[in-house]
Amino acid sequence: MGATDTNKPNVAIVGAGYVGLTTAVLLASSGYNTHLVDVDKEKVSKIKKGESPFFEPNLDGLIKKVTSNKKLVPTSSYEEAVPQAEIVLSCVGTPDKADGSSNLKYVFAAAREIAQHAKDGTVIAQKSTVPVGTGRELAKEIKAANGQLGFHYVSNPEFLREGAAISDTLYPDRIVVGGDDKSSLEKVAQLYEHIIQSASEIDPVLQKEYQPHEYIDGKIVYTTLESAELIKVTSNAFLALKISFANSIAKLADEVDGDIVGVMDGVGLDRRIGRAFLNAGRGYGGGCFPKDVSGLIAAAEKNNVSLEIIQAATHVNSSMPGYIIDKVTKHTDSFKNKDIAVLGLSFKPATSDTRRSPAVQIANLLVDEGASVRAYDPKAIFEDGDLSKGVAREETIDQTIKNADAVFIATDWPEFAAYQPEQYAQQMKGNLLVDCMNMLNKDEVARAGLTYIGVGR
Ligand code: NAD
Repeated sequence: MGATDTNKPNVAIVGAGYVGLTTAVLLASSGYNTHLVDVDKEKVSKIKKGESPFFEPNLDGLIKKVTSNKKLVPTSSYEEAVPQAEIVLSCVGTPDKADGSSNLKYVFAAAREIAQHAKDGTVIAQKSTVPVGTGRELAKEIKAANGQLGFHYVSNPEFLREGAAISDTLYPDRIVVGGDDKSSLEKVAQLYEHIIQSASEIDPVLQKEYQPHEYIDGKIVYTTLESAELIKVTSNAFLALKISFANSIAKLADEVDGDIVGVMDGVGLDRRIGRAFLNAGRGYGGGCFPKDVSGLIAAAEKNNVSLEIIQAATHVNSSMPGYIIDKVTKHTDSFKNKDIAVLGLSFKPATSDTRRSPAVQIANLLVDEGASVRAYDPKAIFEDGDLSKGVAREETIDQTIKNADAVFIATDWPEFAAYQPEQYAQQMKGNLLVDCMNMLNKDEVARAGLTYIGVGR
């Protein structure tokens, strides 16, 4: 490894999801002796076999390497993982409750377990996204669970994106560490410095994209506990705001015959604004944005602050699947008994994650409208039965769109754009191509004899 293995304390990661597993694998790859503990025994046994429980590009190969050289030890036992660790990173899930506030039961349960097994002087860092104020509560909970334990609590929010989890961890935009004890903040920051220093050996292909780099400079934000917690949720809320802003203007563009893609290209050239996340479409979903935004609103309300602008963003977002269906009904009398193909179900491309996916909502809404719906996604995995039983899963694009009256592209997987408009036209019975992600060239679609329907175009 590029970085030496001296000064590398033992680390335990709690929670083997997208965040925990990726972080554990990359720490192990950069020379750390890493234990990874999860209560889900099935997940643990999969990881032990060198497999990822979910699809994440390039993760399987790295898991195989670090489990076979024993740098990573997956386990379902806190007793095995935590006592020898100098730093414990908590990465368990924080779903939302029915009222939109964050469900912190896993975070608190993990904290109690860590408290019972940690050795004196352990640094306990929180990578899960939690509402501001949670860190102080957790520190109290840890004290209550084990009054003898000397420990330092650090907020270390995670910013990786599913589908790009490895490159985001090897080449992060920033590392945020917040808390009261400077040396603990430095210890946590150093984990990432070592990952970054080893990046070119862990993934030489990625390195080519990023060279040359003096990557760590200016990227570590040392701050207070509360500010670190706020940085995470504020970042996600702002990105959600940008998407809903683009969708609001897209609705106007639809009325006045504008094209939102060109509009946002023009707007985004202003360096004060930027082009990223100004893409109109069926809205955001996934395991983070919806619940992080609702969690921020709930945390603000608890502090008697009303975040109207962010509430508006959530309203716009939840309107988008229905808005698209309504727009299409202007071109077709009804969906009843129509054969409709839906391409894409994951909440975004390059992931199997379907949590809160607007693509799934679109498929389900079409079933509710009486359509016969067939759907294809290259990777989607369903954990919670969100997909309507009325949706038939297919294995290929061809099977899915054959003789369809209309095709909805609901997730922007590259293969849907690589499939040529003429191929769509050849396979389909009808002529409606609904581009819920504005990913196709609308003129090429029209030239193939299809009616193109985008969002704000
Ligand atoms: P996930 O649902 O994929 O994984 C969470 C894991 O925690 C599961 O494997 C679960 O079995 C395990 N777990 C639950 N309770 C446990 C306990 N008491 N002890 C041990 N393991 C336990 O979650 P994720 O997507 O990795 O997200 C984790 C946190 O990171 C969340 O707060 C999320 O908001 C945040 N986050 C996620 C992403 C992302 O892209 N997924 C990005 C940044 C931040």
